[in-house]
Amino acid sequence: MTGTEDELARQLRLLFIKIAPAIKTPQPKPMNDVSMYIANNQPPAFIYYRKGLCEHQKLLAIVHELTHACLTRPGSGGDEEEYERQEPCSNQAAAVICSTYGISDYRKVMRSLTVPAYRFHGGDPTTIELMIERVGTALEQPGVFPEWANPI
Ligand SMILES: [Zn+2]
Repeated sequence: MTGTEDELARQLRLLFIKIAPAIKTPQPKPMNDVSMYIANNQPPAFIYYRKGLCEHQKLLAIVHELTHACLTRPGSGGDEEEYERQEPCSNQAAAVICSTYGISDYRKVMRSLTVPAYRFHGGDPTTIELMIERVGTALEQPGVFPEWANPI
């Protein structure tokens, strides 16, 4: 599958319309982190991105958060330590997903937003593959409610 950045933006918009009862459309928020996924104790889950990000940075951040979301059901509470452990996987998976839409500067953009270099290395290959599969498929078929987004 190949596409363009515009197509990625469009697929994301459609996907968030589809999954709105489970995961709300990402919102800006003043914060130090580039973005965050909040699974919540009851649905819906939330995604926030740092206020002031440009459209390009925002797209990358949202893809990143979806890689967490696809392993952490809305309403499941979530676990900060688990997200931290997932970071290398999330970054590598998000870089691959973005590259299928012609975006080749994922790492560069995240590094420029002060994401530390160690968060791009290591990570369980099976988890990376799973993230790519789940988020990639959801973006290719944004009209289909993905199983992983079903609230607990
Ligand atoms: Zn993350």
